[in-house]
Parts: sequence; structure tokens; C-alpha cells
Amino acid sequence: MTKNKRSAQGYTWEGVAVHAYKTEGQAPFKAVTRQVLFEGEGLAAQWRYFEVAPGGYTTLERHQHVHAVMVIRGQGHCLVGEEIHPIGLFDLVWVPPLTWHQFQATADEPLGFLCLVNAERDRPQLPSEDDLAELRRNPHIAKFIRV
Ligand code: MN
Repeated sequence: MTKNKRSAQGYTWEGVAVHAYKTEGQAPFKAVTRQVLFEGEGLAAQWRYFEVAPGGYTTLERHQHVHAVMVIRGQGHCLVGEEIHPIGLFDLVWVPPLTWHQFQATADEPLGFLCLVNAERDRPQLPSEDDLAELRRNPHIAKFIRV
């Protein structure tokens, strides 16, 4: 049993370390933290909690593994493939294999979401210049993405 602590600073759990989302400079992102809630022997998945600060965004990326996401704090938008959706409390987002995706928080509050992944998974791919040019052919996506 692990107690949750919710505060204006963020949602945390006793004994669960709050990590930087990714190593700075490794991939473009802004103001995201990562906590691993469940992992280990007997579980073929990892269950994480991400928190994106107001105005922040996750890396635009794709990979073979899928994401099963539930928003549990705040609001924002997500790009999944060709579609941009507003997202809010308890909405579910499925990110299929090899599908470009990015999550962005609104300007006024953090966006927090649970994300289930395979424990063993491939590394994310970042968009090449060609990929970006392809994505930007859609004006909505061109306006949305942060890279
Ligand atoms: Mn991803």
C-alpha cells in the first residue's frame, strides 16, 4: 500500500521517485516529470504517471509499443496520428504502434496522466526533417506540434 499525496506542486506517491521525463538534450520536451508507479517481476507492463507543467509538452515521437493513457489531472490536447483532441479528466487515449504522438498541457494548469506500457519495449523514434515536412502538410498539425 502506497499513499498518494496531492498538492499544488504535483501528484506524488510515498516512496515513488519523481524523475525528469527524459534526459535534457536527448529529445525536445518541456516541463515534464515521470514517476513509475508499478513495475517488476510478474508484471509485463510498467504503469507510470507523467505530469506536464502548464504550457509544457511531451516529446513528439513514435515507437512500436503502444500507450494506454488516462488523464487524471488538468486538461490539454494530444496529437495521435493525424488527429488532435482536447483531453480532460478521466479521458482515455490509445496510441497505436508507430503513431506520432504528443501531449500538451493548457497554459493555466498541469496535465497529469497515467500511462501503461510494455515493460520490454523499443526506444522512441524522433521525427526526421522529412517526417516533419510530412506532418506539417496538415496545417492543424503544423500549428500544434512543438519540436
Ligand atoms: Mn511515447
